[in-house]
Amino acid sequence: MSTPHDASPSNVHPDTWAVTAGRPSREPDEPLNVPVLLASTYTAGGDVEYGRYGNPTWTAFEETLGGLEGGRCLSFASGIAAIAASLDLLPQGAKVVAPRHSYTGTILQLNHAEERGRVRTELVDISDAAAVSAAAADAAMVWIESPTNPALETADIARISEAARAAGALTVVDNTFATPLLQRPLELGADIVVHSATKFIAGHSDVVMGAVVTRSDSLYDELKKRRSLHGAIPGPLEVFLALRGLRTLPLRLERAEASAKELVRRLGDHPSLTEVRYPGFGAIVSLVLPSADAADAFIDRTRLWRHATSLGGVESTLERRRRWAAEAPTIPPGLVRLSVGIENVEDLYADLDSALAASR
Ligand SMILES: *Cc1c(COP(=O)(O)O)cnc(C)c1O
Repeated sequence: MSTPHDASPSNVHPDTWAVTAGRPSREPDEPLNVPVLLASTYTAGGDVEYGRYGNPTWTAFEETLGGLEGGRCLSFASGIAAIAASLDLLPQGAKVVAPRHSYTGTILQLNHAEERGRVRTELVDISDAAAVSAAAADAAMVWIESPTNPALETADIARISEAARAAGALTVVDNTFATPLLQRPLELGADIVVHSATKFIAGHSDVVMGAVVTRSDSLYDELKKRRSLHGAIPGPLEVFLALRGLRTLPLRLERAEASAKELVRRLGDHPSLTEVRYPGFGAIVSLVLPSADAADAFIDRTRLWRHATSLGGVESTLERRRRWAAEAPTIPPGLVRLSVGIENVEDLYADLDSALAASR
């Protein structure tokens, strides 16, 4: 693997790095892309040895995402596998502070660990940095998600990381919603970034994959050990697709974010909505309708937006989050999370507007 020798994450812009990193060398007849390298084993005596320990297709993806986040990256089988490996760093019985509006899969995993006495969890309002910092005093880890899914609260990552460090706690940031193009938690003092690459990074609703990124060599080694021991490894085709998606992340996100802002502007005083939540950046918007029934009727009447869970694809999708029993009871029953895609914003708005009118 080699990137152009004049390119590094520090001397080219992120959108250039997303395109140029993780490519084969520039020798004649070298391909421009790494292959989907299918191998369960490698000739003995090298660094990789076996397919559960490494794969050149992973390396290309890891170099690219690691450069964008400013650390060393490890690919995982899913976002939740990356989260599991990170939570496994906690000593037995240790306390973890986490957002009460974390991604439901994170909450379910924390509950499962707590039921077995594996960890103690304190759920907090992650937008209240003073409260989070106080809760960190006797914790081993502070888990941040910012913006949160789907409440869209944001956290002061720098302030919380500093308080966590002073208390001897690790800070982990789930950066799935912002992506490294909008927020680089390692630069703000976080120890580990986790991603569901399933979402904006792969970006086409065709891959489930995750990643962790860290600047610490010892944390990298510990996380890699867990990937090798627990086997939550991605297939090379998935990683190839995620890398292909990452190439266009800057363009996709720019378009989707601009459309999200325009939709928020137009929907801000819509009579069918009680609230429009938007953190000011990114491509996720939460609309609050007066009731679950009104929200379901609205979703039923959309023709272009697709009713589906997950997010971050080129296709615009929407979902009433409380349809899931595991969603936090503090999320309004009529909250509909929008994942804004890259279609023409006029079509996206017209579909929402007519479906909202009909839901009244
Ligand atoms: C989807 C999601 C995850 C879980 O990722 P998977 O790839 O589905 O395992 C974690 N965090 C956030 C914020 C997510 O949206």
